[in-house]
Amino acid sequence: MNCENYKFLLILPDNLASPPNLAEQDGICEKITGTILRRKNKDMQIIRSVEELLGYIALRKEQHQSIGFVPTMGALHAGHISLVEKAVEENDVAVVSVFVNPTQFNNPTDLATYPRDEEADIRLLAKHGVDAVFMPGVEEMYPNGMERDHEFNLGAAAEVMEGKMRPGHFQGVAQVVSRLFLLVRPNRAYFGEKDFQQIAIIKNMTESEGIDVEIISCPIKRAEDGLALSSRNALLTEEQRKRAPEIYAALKESVEYSKTHSVRATHDSVVERLDAVPEMQVEYFEIVDSRTLLPVEEWDEAPSVTGCITVYNGKVRLIDNIRYR
Ligand code: AMP
Repeated sequence: MNCENYKFLLILPDNLASPPNLAEQDGICEKITGTILRRKNKDMQIIRSVEELLGYIALRKEQHQSIGFVPTMGALHAGHISLVEKAVEENDVAVVSVFVNPTQFNNPTDLATYPRDEEADIRLLAKHGVDAVFMPGVEEMYPNGMERDHEFNLGAAAEVMEGKMRPGHFQGVAQVVSRLFLLVRPNRAYFGEKDFQQIAIIKNMTESEGIDVEIISCPIKRAEDGLALSSRNALLTEEQRKRAPEIYAALKESVEYSKTHSVRATHDSVVERLDAVPEMQVEYFEIVDSRTLLPVEEWDEAPSVTGCITVYNGKVRLIDNIRYR
């Protein structure tokens, strides 16, 4: 088949094998025509080494294809997939990384119990039209050891909330994400607003490190009962899972409450309500300027105000947030 004069948008149904002659040629077609081939459930590249990744990316760059990138720690759910779908839709090539990064865990038990399901992740990503998944081992990511060669300048936003509760966490996040950005060289990278503070930190990191990438924030995906989807939800007992929607219920109701009450009273009402739920303990709830992430005392102190919460549900640490203004 001569594809020199054609452009393709090829969508293969999940249950259809690649048409053999097209599959043989599609590398050439892509090269000649800059074609977008979307392979549903087909031909997703599973890349485990940095060397292979660099080769893959170099080829895409040579072909002037835009790269959308979604960094994850795996145990993928519909929250991750909402980012993946955007990356697939908005770019020529969608690359996802699955790597449980030890350097961002300040609690060894949290790292040891972090859920992992590589096979299910691969299946899910292939089904959603991802072009390549990068699944490195720890040595591949950190060939010279996990020690950071420099401290990242992450600004004042890194000193509050998660930064205060999990010392070194954001340095570890900056370390792994900067390395991934340098390897994948994405045009756009997708992050979820569930980790609201993380987005600000990543933006600060790309600015201070001089990495040219558009950071795209995506809304929180929730279960039907309102619980923010999280890989850690898999660790909840049945009882804890039943109670977990209280977190979002309390946040949502507090938006109404905030219209007639002060920042302090709104804060206290949420904390009191959640602390009264069996097995639940609020670690922090901070009502902050959405841009700087620094606490506000008055609702009109900042153009946009967000409440960020972390709650222990048994031993499982859950985070969520809500926009007030
Ligand atoms: P993680 O695997 O937890 O590191 O998450 C990878 C990315 O998915 C991060 O940018 C998260 O913010 C995002 N993410 C995780 N859960 C959700 C969710 N429920 N809704 C939207 N994005 C999410």
